[in-house]
Amino acid sequence: FAQDRPLVEALRREGGGAYEERVGAFGQVLGGEPLEWGRLANEHPPQLRTHDRYGERIDEIDFHPAWHSLLRLGLEAQVQSLPWVDEKTGAHVARAALFMLLGQVEAGVGCPLSMTFASVPALRVQPDLADEWIPRLTSGDALCGMAMTERQGGSDVRANETTARRSGETWELDGNKWFCSAPMSDVFLVLAQAPGGLSCFLVERPQPGFRIERLKDKLGNRSNASAEIRLEGAEARLVGEEGLGIRTIIEMVVHTRLDCVLGSTALMRRAVAEATHHAAHRAAFGRLLVDQPLMANVLADLCVESEAATLTALRLGRAFDEGDHAFRRLATAVAKFWICKRTPPLVAEALECLGGNGYVEESQLPRLFRESPLNSIWEGAGNVNALDVLRAVGREPESVAAFLTEVELAAGADARLDRAIVELKDELADTDEVELRARRLVERLALALQGSLLVRYGDPAVADAFCASRLGGGGGVFGTLPRGLELGAIVERHRPQLGG
Ligand SMILES: Cc1cc2nc3c(=O)[nH]c(=O)nc-3n(C[C@H](O)[C@H](O)[C@H](O)COP(=O)(O)OP(=O)(O)OC[C@H]3O[C@@H](n4cnc5c(N)ncnc54)[C@H](O)[C@@H]3O)c2cc1C
Repeated sequence: FAQDRPLVEALRREGGGAYEERVGAFGQVLGGEPLEWGRLANEHPPQLRTHDRYGERIDEIDFHPAWHSLLRLGLEAQVQSLPWVDEKTGAHVARAALFMLLGQVEAGVGCPLSMTFASVPALRVQPDLADEWIPRLTSGDALCGMAMTERQGGSDVRANETTARRSGETWELDGNKWFCSAPMSDVFLVLAQAPGGLSCFLVERPQPGFRIERLKDKLGNRSNASAEIRLEGAEARLVGEEGLGIRTIIEMVVHTRLDCVLGSTALMRRAVAEATHHAAHRAAFGRLLVDQPLMANVLADLCVESEAATLTALRLGRAFDEGDHAFRRLATAVAKFWICKRTPPLVAEALECLGGNGYVEESQLPRLFRESPLNSIWEGAGNVNALDVLRAVGREPESVAAFLTEVELAAGADARLDRAIVELKDELADTDEVELRARRLVERLALALQGSLLVRYGDPAVADAFCASRLGGGGGVFGTLPRGLELGAIVERHRPQLGG
């Protein structure tokens, strides 16, 4: 943690300073044996056991002990609960830092921790269920998952076919869910079609009506179990109003989207730490890689991206602390799109900085690379996210106003940023073929926000490099920063100082 200067500075600035010691201690712990646990948990992915020796269905999942150790670490650090149990200001910002530290070591356990964390605000709409489950979820005694996606549609959840029918005081659900991560959880929020429309239900496990059919064979995120499940008369209780399922579960999704931003920022940081460290110790053609001008350009460009993501992530954390719904609404969607999209090319480039070694499993870069596209897919894939930004822009003008107010706090500080803000406003005002242009608009929103944050709070050399490249019509690949920037200083700021 202490090595990640942008993160330390952002934690203090955004209101999490009271937690600095605690976050630092967590970072210390993670830098030891847990690094090895991350590798082990991925090399020994979870296995589904459907039946016991007598042929009875059990649907249990065996995880490697390293997975359990990592999950326990996260739970003990209250990654699933800090802002819900600690009244101190800055708890969201501090939790963001904790989540990002854990995510640098292993992303897989982030999924159940995130869903458990995010279920709490959704459950609050149903006081009896909230009283029953929130204490268990926040104390680490229980985990919560979510099941929305079906085979015929994940983005378009209105097409869900799982049905819900009343059965006395409770409901019975029937149907299939094509993706259900952390299926060993104790409880799930599930969308199903009730007579009054798509509704959100709480389903407990284990129960005979909840079958785990199969675990997915995934590109990455292999330590975490993601399943196909079948509900056969599964007992369920309604959360919120019948027919308002999306409105209910969206409270959960807002928070898991925040965690996608944090998770991708964590992957960026780990990749940058690995690349800068390697280049500072590896020589080619008689000079350290880090001292070769072209490599310095690549590394500095990666550092700029990582710092921009870190500042954005913790600024978002503050918006959650402050209950700033207007800013949070648009900024979360923008950041989820942009930071998650920037992560795979950044990790690929960092991997290449290690040369052939980066392509080999021992370096851990392949694991990061496989993980890197995921945050852009779940919780709303890229296009769906971009369309959500359009929805916010079109229907919630207060979110645009709050976003622009934040961006314009840096007005006048950098001519390139000022120009970008003017262009952004032109883009926002143009309603012609807006769906076709959605990604372009989100990109401009993201760059304006990141530029504003960096100009105000970032390292001056990093801010200069960001404005000169991202706001100055830079190239499409990393390593195309223009001349005249302090590349060496940027890399040194981000390079882990491990006594050498
Ligand atoms: C590892 C993993 C774990 C997961 N865990 C869970 C879980 O625990 N619970 C859960 O409910 N889901 C889970 N999911 C599912 C995930 O949320 C969905 O895959 C995702 O929402 C996309 O839905 P889909 O796969 O049906 O793709 P589709 O909805 O078919 O989308 C395919 C593509 O079309 C694009 N698209 C869709 N609509 C439009 C449009 N109008 N205009 C332009 N482009 C569009 C999308 O952006 C996407 O790129 C998981 C997925 C993965 C990969």
